[in-house]
Amino acid sequence: MIWEESTFYQNAVKQLEYAGQVMNLDPNVLTRLKMPKRALIVSVPVRMDDGNIKVFEGYRVHHSMSMGPAKGGIRYHPSVSLSETAALAMLMTFKCSLMNLPLGGGKGGIAVDPSKLSRGEKQRLTRRYTTEILPFIGPEKDIPAPDVGTDSQTMAWILDTYSQELGYCVPGVVTGKPIEVGGSLGREEATGRGVVYTIIEASKALNIKLDENTKVAVQGFGNVGRAAAKKMQKIGTTVVAVSDYTGGIYNPKGLDLDHVSAYIAKNKTLGGYPEAEAISNEQLLELPCDILIPAALEGQITDKNAAKVKAKIIAEGANGPTESAADKILFEKNVFVIPDILANAGGVVVSYFEWVQGIQKLFWTEKEVNNKLFEIMSNTFAKVYAVSLEKKVNMRTAALICGIDRLSKAMLSRGFFP
Ligand code: NAD
Repeated sequence: MIWEESTFYQNAVKQLEYAGQVMNLDPNVLTRLKMPKRALIVSVPVRMDDGNIKVFEGYRVHHSMSMGPAKGGIRYHPSVSLSETAALAMLMTFKCSLMNLPLGGGKGGIAVDPSKLSRGEKQRLTRRYTTEILPFIGPEKDIPAPDVGTDSQTMAWILDTYSQELGYCVPGVVTGKPIEVGGSLGREEATGRGVVYTIIEASKALNIKLDENTKVAVQGFGNVGRAAAKKMQKIGTTVVAVSDYTGGIYNPKGLDLDHVSAYIAKNKTLGGYPEAEAISNEQLLELPCDILIPAALEGQITDKNAAKVKAKIIAEGANGPTESAADKILFEKNVFVIPDILANAGGVVVSYFEWVQGIQKLFWTEKEVNNKLFEIMSNTFAKVYAVSLEKKVNMRTAALICGIDRLSKAMLSRGFFP
């Protein structure tokens, strides 16, 4: 099958199969969940600033809609493929189910390097992509959100294009949009904040103190990595390394994250940052630290480098950063991995809050949003941790068991169509 082309998809299926085996999952449910529900491939022609037209390839995949509308981000990155998008859609299904949300799993993306586009080109790309996938999306069908290479501005353009087509404003078509067009307070930092909430819970469970002696390394300094790093610093730990696609920076005494952010605002990337040692992204993963937060792309921790990881806790801000073979090595080494579908679920939880607030036209304070997020993240952590102890499995398998259990019950009670 075309979905199975990427290692990422194959890994996602392996994890699903293993969880299915441990929980004795109905074999028909397993067969269905290994495949997405449907996928759309679109050509996105864009007039570039030089007058020429370039055509980009875009996708939108629905993995499951058994629990509600599909939910998942839109990624702009050169390595986006149908198989990668399908794997991410599958993870979204399990994540939404784990977090007890009335949502299914979807994902979209365009194979493009957004850093090479002007603002005008990005806007035209987004509007044309939206038009092409328009029959697939909508507040009751499929609700996109930001992911790698996209942000609240991208969501505002999608909202506007969709609303122009329908003739009235439809804020519920996307989440992660700017506050002034119906976004939720706290959404921007929600994923990174949620990552930290799960680290706090893991530290309590493992009896690890979080203080200035706790060293933290963060791969990826985008939406997720930056918010997670800042929050880790706020709770009193020391962030010693961060990175972006150009490489990383390391200072064992701790980084001044405001200074780092100001440097990026001026220079666009971390490259050449003067007040720390330059390291590679590979070196960052192997640094002497207590907590490692991979918050960039999938497939970063593999069977080649897993044995060299020194952190006690890995909190997966990114989707799929740890390959299956690496998971086994880390489990044997006693490294506590908080899996993506739990660690980075804060984004989709607050996206759900945004959707609910939009429907009710009743907006919450940031404190309300953060408190509700904390309650959901800590309760779900406790549930997953209890299953991992009971079944003697790692946190990834336990999280999948919790998510798949709810979903399979819903699928079986809805019955098979036709
Ligand atoms: P982003 O585009 O805001 O940031 C990505 C960061 O990763 C940037 O700093 C970029 O320079 C860096 N990067 C890109 N390629 C890299 C490479 N090869 N090596 C090292 N660093 C690299 O994206 P984001 O929204 O922060 O998403 C990061 C991860 O978190 C993705 O896996 C995404 O699916 C996941 N995630 C995002 C959200 C969200 O709300 N944005 C929610 C859940 C999960």
